[in-house]
Amino acid sequence: MSAKSMSATSDQKHFEVVVIGFGPTGAMAANLLGAQGITTLAIDRALDIYDKPRAIALDHEIMRLFDNLDIAEQISRYVAPFPASEHFGARGQLIRRIDMVGEPYPLGYTPSMVFTQPPVERVMRDRVGSFPSVTVELGTALVDISQDAKCATLVLQHEDGTTREVTANYVIACDGASSTVRQKLGISFDDLDFDEPWLVVDLLVNDAGVSKLPATAAQFCNPARPTTYIIGPGNHRRFEIMLRLGEDRHAMEQPEQVWQLLSPWLKPEDATLWRAASYRFHALIASRWSQGRVLLAGDAAHQQPPFIGQGMCQGLRDAANLCWKLAHVLRGQSSAVLLDSYEAERSTHVRELTTRIKAIGRVICEQDPEAAAARDARILAEGGGAPRTITRQEIVPPLTTGLLAAKPNVANGTLFPQPWILRDGGKALLDAIAGVGWRLILDGWSALNTSAIDAATRDAGINTIAIGGNGLQEESAVVARWFERHGCTAALVRPDHYVYGVAKDAPGLAALLAELNERLHYNKKHPTGKTP
Ligand SMILES: Cc1cc2nc3c(=O)[nH]c(=O)nc-3n(C[C@H](O)[C@H](O)[C@H](O)COP(=O)(O)OP(=O)(O)OC[C@H]3O[C@@H](n4cnc5c(N)ncnc54)[C@H](O)[C@@H]3O)c2cc1C
Repeated sequence: MSAKSMSATSDQKHFEVVVIGFGPTGAMAANLLGAQGITTLAIDRALDIYDKPRAIALDHEIMRLFDNLDIAEQISRYVAPFPASEHFGARGQLIRRIDMVGEPYPLGYTPSMVFTQPPVERVMRDRVGSFPSVTVELGTALVDISQDAKCATLVLQHEDGTTREVTANYVIACDGASSTVRQKLGISFDDLDFDEPWLVVDLLVNDAGVSKLPATAAQFCNPARPTTYIIGPGNHRRFEIMLRLGEDRHAMEQPEQVWQLLSPWLKPEDATLWRAASYRFHALIASRWSQGRVLLAGDAAHQQPPFIGQGMCQGLRDAANLCWKLAHVLRGQSSAVLLDSYEAERSTHVRELTTRIKAIGRVICEQDPEAAAARDARILAEGGGAPRTITRQEIVPPLTTGLLAAKPNVANGTLFPQPWILRDGGKALLDAIAGVGWRLILDGWSALNTSAIDAATRDAGINTIAIGGNGLQEESAVVARWFERHGCTAALVRPDHYVYGVAKDAPGLAALLAELNERLHYNKKHPTGKTP
């Protein structure tokens, strides 16, 4: 059986979750809820996928989510590795590189990738269509929303202008930067003080054109015209070009102007102009991410400059963080208090990452020649006089707050690695073996005795897996080194792959599990779900 879709109107009146907006964030949410069997309605006011790419980069955390949904292989057709980005200073000198971490890859996939957005969104939508509990309605807009102690009520408007009401236990607003839901709730944005006009140009380049272009991605930090160059999959190439004060954005989008701007690299006969559109690159974050039964996700909750390609990734992380929590709450395994950790975790994470991206943006967007020269000298000095390489992965922070173990460890809130596991003469990634629920990963080389906690983990539905020793054998020592580095022998991993906490001995592990049990099953003692 497949999802009821795509543009027909359902006569179902109540859903456990309604997802407003079926862009990348909404499609990820609908998939994750569908995979949990949650009755879900996903709507979008548009009739189809936006046919031009906005996002062009994604990372290994997102590919892991795609793989968990069994669509990584299909998506990989539209994906390529993201080569190192070379940053050139005001005099054209190399000042630093931003690259990805090396092999063995920590999550099992190429850590940084480029992709073509429309077909990737198509694969995501098609996967939603395979879940019987999900209904998709396109050409349907949310026009009003209210809520009470029992449910949220949504007024939906169809293409023919008719409206109907549906109710939901929870609503996820994935309706993009100008979110109707956010506005209806009166939630404002905190402005993180970044607002620069850029022209984004996508090209399909022919062989002659490709030979004229830089061999790797580049950031030309030229104060006269800061420019980003990205090598997309196949013959897709992107230039992002900063507009200067006084330049009219609509005039700059015209093909003659675009070719003028591209003239240091390409002529019109070298490429087809796919699109040229101007954007304000800004850094905004919703002052709150939820109100009662309604939760914001994706661009509805935050926007950031695209300098390391994280905007969409952040939205998909929101969906991954939220959906397992909603499933716990809707199944009565946890009280609604669990949902408070969504905003606590994601808003702190987005704020920190956006601050880091903004700092990179300030370097890139410098238009004062003297300041640019000082910047170049400083960056080179930071590298000991030579261009230094930093990785995109070190720029993305861990979770630092929320549903994490009380006992501090730098591993808490980091993504647990995903090794390749040797099996049946071949190999498989860990998630395919261990699943994507709560997992207790043990260092199989340690003498940790877990007999005292076996019943507790079984009752809590936690899958216990040992890696190394008598347990599963990994291809490279990714997990073994991880345990060594963090001074522990056990890691309790959340359904979104973030580490809840770690332990180094049996009493520590028993305490960790007891603490998690208390926090997750809080509703049994506090059925109202009120924070004490
Ligand atoms: C130039 C540029 C470059 C970028 N590069 C990257 C990158 O390299 N990597 C990256 O990760 N991100 C990047 N981003 C960011 C990324 O494109 C966005 O963060 C992402 O598309 C947001 O997805 P979303 O699903 O949250 O919102 P959207 O994609 O905006 O989807 C929102 C959906 O909600 C629907 N909708 C709106 N209102 C209603 C309503 N009332 N009722 C029903 N439906 C509604 C809309 O039709 C739309 O389909 C870039 C963005 C830009 C502009």
